Amino acid sequence: MYTDSHFHLDHFELKGNVPEMIDHAREAQVNRLIAIGGSDEANALALKTAKTYPGTLWATAGYDRDLSPGWDRETARLRETLSHPEVVAVGESGLDYFHKQNDPEDQKILFEAMLDLAAQTAKPMIIHSREAEDDTLAMLTNFSKRWPDADRPCGVLHCFTGSADFARKLLDLNLMISFSGIVTFKNAADIREAAKIVPADRLLIETDSPYLAPHPFRGERNQPALVPHVAACLAECRETTPEDIAETTTQNAIRFFGLHSIA
Ligand SMILES: [Zn+2]
Repeated sequence: MYTDSHFHLDHFELKGNVPEMIDHAREAQVNRLIAIGGSDEANALALKTAKTYPGTLWATAGYDRDLSPGWDRETARLRETLSHPEVVAVGESGLDYFHKQNDPEDQKILFEAMLDLAAQTAKPMIIHSREAEDDTLAMLTNFSKRWPDADRPCGVLHCFTGSADFARKLLDLNLMISFSGIVTFKNAADIREAAKIVPADRLLIETDSPYLAPHPFRGERNQPALVPHVAACLAECRETTPEDIAETTTQNAIRFFGLHSIA
């Protein structure tokens, strides 16, 4: 049984095929899904869907970097969403200096507020980082010291696309590392090198669907049912079996997100 630790619902909701997406996932043995928030609308949709599929789908809630310019620094609504047991993490949020439309300083203010919420609620942080490794590490160094739960990692760097060196620094800060379909791409040798050094108990897999479908579906619409292709690639580069990756990453997700508490 597989767990997709990161996917976005909006697209499936828009097309009216959330039930179909979940059926496809179950047929592919993908029995646990984490639906990622990032705005009031996405957070509410993730929570509503989690309440519809208890024991199969859980939600996260946060404000993503796109909201950073106009953000009014109000978190009351987000705190209310985070108080539901189906909401198992804060995010996604983080720093993205590749897409230049959001000012780095605005992004940092918003990300810091999300890290504060994660520390206060003891719900781990779902982190996006692109071309912002130094600033991400600096902020996470601070956050990892404030994280109150000694029994589990403080966050996950999702859709990891960095080097083995970046991975080591994140592991030192007590983070999980999640690999998406990008690890299966032909030109992703560096990411596969990084995937070799992540300890088994820090590893997660995700689709980040509807984006980034894994090889051989690259360019098509992605969905949680395709997460076994990420597992197969990781199994190859870590010299183990897909079943082992499935089991390890599912146990990790259960522990990291606390999924047993409401299943
Ligand atoms: Zn995402």
